[in-house]
Amino acid sequence: MTGNRYDVIVIGAGPAGMMAAGTASEAGANVLLLEKNESPGKKLLLTGHGRCNLTNIRIMDNYREKYHENARFLSGSFHAFPPEEVLAFFASLGVPAHEEEDGRYFPDSQKSVTILDALLAYLEKQHVTIRTNEEVTSIRSQDGLWHVTTGHGSFATVCVIIATGGASFPQTGSRGDGYGLLRSVGHSVTDLAPALAPILLRNLLRDAQTGRETAQASQDKASMSGLSLSGITLEDAAVTLLVEKNCVSKSRGSLLFTHQGISGPAAMSLSRYLPSRDEDKSLYDEEKVTVQIDLIPGIREDVADQMLLGAMAEEPNRQMRSLVRRVFGLPERVVDLLFEEALKEIPANRVTKQQRKEITRIAKALTFTVVCSTPLALAYVTRGGADVKAFDPKTMESRSCEGLYVVGELLDIDGESGGYNLQNAWATGRAAGEASAQRASTHSTMPQNMIDAQNNR
Ligand SMILES: Cc1cc2nc3c(=O)[nH]c(=O)nc-3n(C[C@H](O)[C@H](O)[C@H](O)COP(=O)(O)OP(=O)(O)OC[C@H]3O[C@@H](n4cnc5c(N)ncnc54)[C@H](O)[C@@H]3O)c2cc1C
Repeated sequence: MTGNRYDVIVIGAGPAGMMAAGTASEAGANVLLLEKNESPGKKLLLTGHGRCNLTNIRIMDNYREKYHENARFLSGSFHAFPPEEVLAFFASLGVPAHEEEDGRYFPDSQKSVTILDALLAYLEKQHVTIRTNEEVTSIRSQDGLWHVTTGHGSFATVCVIIATGGASFPQTGSRGDGYGLLRSVGHSVTDLAPALAPILLRNLLRDAQTGRETAQASQDKASMSGLSLSGITLEDAAVTLLVEKNCVSKSRGSLLFTHQGISGPAAMSLSRYLPSRDEDKSLYDEEKVTVQIDLIPGIREDVADQMLLGAMAEEPNRQMRSLVRRVFGLPERVVDLLFEEALKEIPANRVTKQQRKEITRIAKALTFTVVCSTPLALAYVTRGGADVKAFDPKTMESRSCEGLYVVGELLDIDGESGGYNLQNAWATGRAAGEASAQRASTHSTMPQNMIDAQNNR
């Protein structure tokens, strides 16, 4: 590098940008990493509730299903830098990791800051120049070089890697800047929507038997359906998202009731299917978007009914509520939802067949109305982004703009929870880092005096 000229400039010091910058430098390039925040890796620090679920050992077997529509785009970079190598990379930086449930890997320290510190030490060792408080406002290509402009000046480079992340959790710096930069050079960006987001529910219970809203029941139960359930976790629930009564998607896993709706893996993985275009607003206004929660997904409805019947015969004088709790293994506040007010205090021997069947039916399909598509700011990940068709999946280089690369969450790729999104960042960052260094080493560039003249214009 001479003056303001570099081989590779990386925009954004998140996981993808740091990986790209370190890799390019290790491969021999002079690298500048520009970050708009006062420090790198703000979102990385939040990952895994501060523990950083850095990858998932099962990814190579299930990535096609876990990354949805554009999963195939990741094949090349994942084979080049699979989870095992990501783990070996961090171990070589002094951060061993261990496996938890479903193949998820976390650093032994249980702290995401150790991953960030290791990356920063790696960048220092590779002599990457990091400039913080540098918000990139434009990029343009001229005479075989890219010119990257921030509030403080302009830099020239053979290759530019855009790693500005998505548009969710904007307080971390990821505000969707990369979409504008891409559009300015002719790239298209697919529709943006929340992924891995909580689902916001109305405090309203529908009649699970008929699907008809029972106005009085909803009034009566409004206070407990949402608010009073807040804080309850179900270890295993199945959630179905319905739009105009048609099943859009289903998921199963642990579920958390919050004061606004539902969260936890079972709810969050459905959020990417919430209708989210402007014209979909009427679906919410007309209460046509609902979720059905199966509280006992491991038990078939007819079997559940038989279990209740058996328990009622064994303990006819026991309060029906406590019997249901015992048989279905559900928390008290959740069980309350299955009962009409009148049924709450009665013993099992006074419950009719119809009432018993209704309890089971609601347990299998507790239904709430979704208020609206979750705001992008609340999503863990952004669905949509840089249209992957325009990029080479092995190198992440643009097919139309030579020397321009896109990595990480800025791409139109969203993964399930479980370390999938960070694996995307590591692997695509690595691929672009290697390819850009290679390109910079083989492409002759304009003489420095011409670049200096341009930079001073
Ligand atoms: C609360 C939370 C928990 C999560 N937990 C996990 C988890 O455990 N495992 C997992 O796999 N994924 C997790 N994710 C998702 C994961 O954090 C992201 O997918 C990942 O951080 C994306 O990496 P990235 O480098 O592409 O973008 P980002 O991490 O968003 O980084 C982009 C960087 O670019 C900078 N930037 C933006 N615009 C500019 C500009 N104009 N100029 C200069 N710099 C700019 C930003 O300030 C930021 O530092 C979580 C997300 C959230 C919000």
